[in-house]
Parts: sequence; C-alpha cells; structure tokens
Amino acid sequence: MDRLSMPKVTKDIVQKYGFKFSKSLGQNFLVDSNVLLKIVDGAQIEEGDCVLEVGPGIGTLTRELSKRADKVIAIEIDKNLIPILRETLSDRENVEIINEDILKLDIKKLIEEKFEGKRVKVVANLPYYITTPIIMRFLEENIPVKSIVVMIQKEVALRMNAQPSTKDYGSLSVAIQFYCTTSIVANVPKTVFMPQPNVDSTVIRLDLLDEPPCSVKDRDMFFRVVKASFSKRRKTLLNCISSSELGISKDDAFKVISGAGIDEKRRGETLTIHEFAALSNEVYDFLESVKP
Ligand code: SAM
Repeated sequence: MDRLSMPKVTKDIVQKYGFKFSKSLGQNFLVDSNVLLKIVDGAQIEEGDCVLEVGPGIGTLTRELSKRADKVIAIEIDKNLIPILRETLSDRENVEIINEDILKLDIKKLIEEKFEGKRVKVVANLPYYITTPIIMRFLEENIPVKSIVVMIQKEVALRMNAQPSTKDYGSLSVAIQFYCTTSIVANVPKTVFMPQPNVDSTVIRLDLLDEPPCSVKDRDMFFRVVKASFSKRRKTLLNCISSSELGISKDDAFKVISGAGIDEKRRGETLTIHEFAALSNEVYDFLESVKP
C-alpha cells in the first residue's frame, strides 16, 4: 500500500464493517506506510524468524511482517476486528489470528506450542497503559523471545532508553536495562494515526540479554535498592537508603554505600547499573549478617 492510499484504505475498511474505534482498547491505527516500514525494519526479521504480534488492529503491520517472517501469530482482543483481519489477511497463509486478551494469555505455552523452538520476535502497538506491564511480564517471566519492538508513549521510551545522570533516568531505565539493550527505532508523530491520539509516540527496540549485565546476589534485593535509591530525587543516596523500607540506619547505610565503593553524597540518579548491583550486594550481605 502506498503512503497516500493508506488512510483511505483504512477509512474504507472501517466504514465497510461499521467498525467503531474503542478508546479504552487504545485503537489508534497507523496510517503511514513509511512509519510502518520503519517498524518492520526495526524488527530485524531474519530468515526462519517467527513473529508474535500483539494488537494487530486491521492487520496493516501484520501483512508486512508476514512478508518477512516464517510465521506470524497475531493476538487481538477485539472480536469486532476478527472478521476484518480474516479478510485483510486472507491471502497470507503464514498468519494465525488469535482472539485473546494478551494480559490473560499463557504466552510461554503459546510460544512453545505454536513456534516449535524457532526464534521469536515480538512486535506490538498497544494501548499505552498496558504496554509497560506487558513488557515487564515478558522480561520477568523469562518468556523466550529474542527482541521486542514496541510503539510506546515518547516519554516512556526516553525513560527506558536513558543513561545515568540524565533527566529521564530512573527505576524504569534500570529495570529495562537489567534485561535488555535498548535502541530507539523511530519517533512517530500523533498525526500518523487514525483517530489521532493526544501524545506523540516512539518505537523502541529491546534486545533481550542472555544474562543480566551485572552480577547480583539477590534479584529482589537489587530492585528494592534501585527503588529506594530513586525514591527521593535530588536527595543523597545516604538519605534515600537510610529512610527506605530496607530498615537500615544512617550509620549502617553509610557503611554499605562506602563498602560498595560509592560516595554516599551521590544521588541515586547518577549510579550505573553496575553500581546498583554492587550496592545491592552490600545491602544483601549486611541484612543477612544482622538476621536474628
Ligand atoms: N497494530 C495496529 C496498527 O498499528 O495500526 C493497531 C494498533 S492499536 C494502537 C492497538 C491494538 O491493540 C488494537 O487493535 C486493540 O484492539 C488491541 N488491543 C488492546 N488491548 C489488547 C489486549 N489486552 N490484548 C490484545 N490486543 C489488544
């Protein structure tokens, strides 16, 4: 489909089926073929790859993905879109549409059953309020996928991709970068959607790491320490750690922070992921040593 015809084709399909866009399902369909191709290119689909697409809408992105992938499985929650998808993708034999809520699906089981050990890449353009929880689910539950390319609110993408000592760096940056390397695929203005949303978007690519980039003794403790360190922006690490739910006095917080080789007057937002790992390992050892 060329650039100019995409809005018209989308409009025609919507009219033909009397489809009503649902705001609560985040139904803003992409109507720009340049952006579409950027997403498909960003997914870096190689020979033999399979794609799990979440939220196919009327199937425009699905069609392009299916030209490059061995197999595409598209999960769409809205039953009103299923007959439309069956028509728009009728000639794509390697596409399977599943009418399910991704939040309720046993994704690991689906991948095992449908993709039979092949490499799986995720592509998604979803309602923004469920995108971060879904990404975290893939990462925390160790769902076996190689990469995730996802359209997300611009500010959230900047936070996921942020480096220490920048204004966007926070616990989300560390949480994502513990599991993945990140890169920005494209910035997407709100004008390329039908209907137009209120915010601009960014497509971000997450490449899942085989191992975390740093060695932590206890993953739960690592994330508790990260959370505590960012709990009060513009306060020192000493202040954040000693007044957190970790239950560590100021004196002991001073010892663990310096034990990790970190200046206690630094702020949480300046710490690298490796420094968070060293700090959490010190906190872990300390709390183990004072256990009754
Ligand atoms: N991929 C299409 C595109 O780029 O034009 C549509 C994107 S639209 C922003 C989001 C899509 O996700 C809609 O089709 C919506 O119905 C679907 N969706 C919303 N919540 C979902 C969920 N929990 N599980 C699966 N699909 C969902």
